[in-house]
Amino acid sequence: MTNQTNFLDRLFDAGLLIDTGVDGLYGRSGQFEDVIIAFERLIDRFGGADGAEAIRFPPGMNRAYFETSGYMKSFPQLAGTVHSFCGNELDHMSLLKCMDADEDWSKEQKITDIVLTPAACYPLYPTIAKRGAIAASGALFDLQSYCFRHEPSKDPARQQLFRMREYVCMGTQDHVTDFRQTWMDRGLKMMEEVGLTVEIDVANDPFFGRAGKMLANNQRDQNLKFELLIPITSTSNPTACMSFNYHQDAFGAKWGLNLEDGAVAHTACVGFGLERIALALFHHHGLDVKTWPEQVRKALWG
Ligand code: ATP
Ligand code: ZN
Ligand code: MG
Repeated sequence: MTNQTNFLDRLFDAGLLIDTGVDGLYGRSGQFEDVIIAFERLIDRFGGADGAEAIRFPPGMNRAYFETSGYMKSFPQLAGTVHSFCGNELDHMSLLKCMDADEDWSKEQKITDIVLTPAACYPLYPTIAKRGAIAASGALFDLQSYCFRHEPSKDPARQQLFRMREYVCMGTQDHVTDFRQTWMDRGLKMMEEVGLTVEIDVANDPFFGRAGKMLANNQRDQNLKFELLIPITSTSNPTACMSFNYHQDAFGAKWGLNLEDGAVAHTACVGFGLERIALALFHHHGLDVKTWPEQVRKALWG
C-alpha cells in the first residue's frame, strides 16, 4: 500500500487533490478538473456521432428505485443512504445534548427518499421504462454522475465520491453486444491517443457474501463484465479505468423495458472512471500538465 499512500501524498503536495480528512473524499484543483473536462471532450469525439440522448441526474436517486434495483442484495457494503433529522423541538434538544457530549447523535436521523447514486446508470432504467416501448432500432443514452461507494481507501484511485461517464444501450442482444464491443475497441484507441498502456480483461463485481461468490463466478464465466485496466500505483494489480457490462435481459425484465415487438430489452453499459483516468494520466506523464508529451496534450487540448 505504500505506493498508493505515496502517490496520494504527492497529489496533495501538488495541490491536484485536496485532503478533507476522510479517505476517499477529496477536493479537486482546477488543473485536475481541466484534465477531466478535456478527457470528456475526447469521449464526445469518439461517441458523439452515435446520437445518444444526453441526460444528467444529480448524485442522488429515488430510494424506491434503488430498492427495486436489488442493490442491497448484491452490494449492501457499498451503499450510502441519506438520513435527516425529522424530530420535534424536544428531539432537537436531545440531539444537541448528544453532540455536546460526543455521544451518538444519529438516533433521531430518519431515512429519506434519497439514496446516493451507486452507478451513473441506476436512475436511467426506471426513467426509460416509464416512457413506454423502445424503438426496434434500440435506444442509446449518455450519462455522467458523481457516484458514491462506501470503500474508504488510501489508494487515490479508490474514492468514495467519484464521477462516472456512461453510455447505456438498450435493444436486442446483438445490438447491445455490438455496442459493447465498439466501445472496447474505442477505449483501446482513446487510451493509445493519450499515451497510456492498457489491457482489457474479464472481470466481476464484488457481490456480497458467500452467495455472492457464485454470482461473481457466473458473471465471469459468461463474460458479462470486462474492464480496461491501466497500471497506476501497481503493475501487478492494475486499476479498472473503464468497464463494459452486458446485463442480458436482467434489467429489461426487472424494470419492464420492452421493445416495440414485445420482446424484453437487453441492456449494456460502458463506464469511464473519470478520476481514475485523470490519475492514470498524472501518474504516467507527471504531475505538471505542461510537461506532458506533445502528442498527449494535442489529443486532449487540440
Ligand atoms: P473496482 O474493481 O476497481 O472496484 P468496479 O468493478 O467496482 O471497479 P464498476 O462498478 O464497473 O467498477 O464502475 C465503473 C467504473 O467506475 C470503473 O471502471 C472505475 O473506472 C470507476 N470506479 C469504480 N469504483 C471507483 C472508486 N471507488 N473510485 C473511483 N473510480 C471508481
Ligand atoms: Zn452502468
Ligand atoms: Mg468496485
